[in-house]
Amino acid sequence: MTQIPLQTTAPHLSEYHTENKCTWCDGCGDYGIWTAVKRALVELNLHPWQVCLCYDVGCHGNGSDKIEGYRFHGLHGRVIPFAAGAKLANMKVPVIAFGGDGASFSEGVGHLVHGVRSNYPITFVLHNNGNYGLTTGQASSLTWQGQPMNVAPNGIPEQTLPSMDFVFSLEPTFVARAFTGDIKLMVRVLKAAMQHRGFAFVDMLQACPTYNHFATHEYLLEKYYDANAEGHDPNNREQAHKLATETKDRIACGILYQNEEHPHFYERLVPRKDKQTTLTEEVAKVDVSDLWKEMI
Ligand code: SF4
Ligand code: MG
Repeated sequence: MTQIPLQTTAPHLSEYHTENKCTWCDGCGDYGIWTAVKRALVELNLHPWQVCLCYDVGCHGNGSDKIEGYRFHGLHGRVIPFAAGAKLANMKVPVIAFGGDGASFSEGVGHLVHGVRSNYPITFVLHNNGNYGLTTGQASSLTWQGQPMNVAPNGIPEQTLPSMDFVFSLEPTFVARAFTGDIKLMVRVLKAAMQHRGFAFVDMLQACPTYNHFATHEYLLEKYYDANAEGHDPNNREQAHKLATETKDRIACGILYQNEEHPHFYERLVPRKDKQTTLTEEVAKVDVSDLWKEMI
């Protein structure tokens, strides 16, 4: 389990407040995730200056300046490598990466693959609203096949990507799911993800009332449930996979799978064995002028 640094003064939710106005549509699930993230950080006793929040491009990414903390807003689909690099440079800082379903399962899908298989010790929050909201309702890999969208009025011909089958095929060490209509559930899941030893994949089912007219807030509200409250054991991988993928009648949320036995990426780096300092603490200025002369 990842140790969150102990503090002498308790943080307050107001520390995460900024004056910047949110520009999300009314009813957008981003409001819920934004609120849950702040609550989770406070409940983990973290001040804004003690976390690194990394945002991909998308509607959710516009929240990067709506919260205090060290924040990064990167290139489309590239949030995982940045977040992993930041974490590996300073292992003392908890890192959360946020990405949409569009970028994470198309432009950045390769990074998701390597994020999971490397077991980087970061939390990845998938803003899963089933479309590219920022580009006004284009179909993503997770849009339901046949669903009419703005630039696909007849529905997309491609199969919907079976995202959870895909994630489980990568041998993840943590998979959870929550719904933007349930703040308490999101907070519980986020806290568990942030304390996980390795790469924590969190599927946040998010309402997008403007462009997603199939998996609506009402639809998700009716189908979601807390699988842990119904006795699901996150150690049971087979059951977790089943719950993650069989979503037709009910949608299982909560901590679906967790394996704390696998070392994370940094723990497997032989040159870092027994090092007590972080890479950022080892930065040194070196005079390379003699080397430079040899090259010219
Ligand atoms: Fe939210 Fe959808 Fe509006 Fe984007 S388009 S802000 S995801 S409701
Ligand atoms: Mg999306």
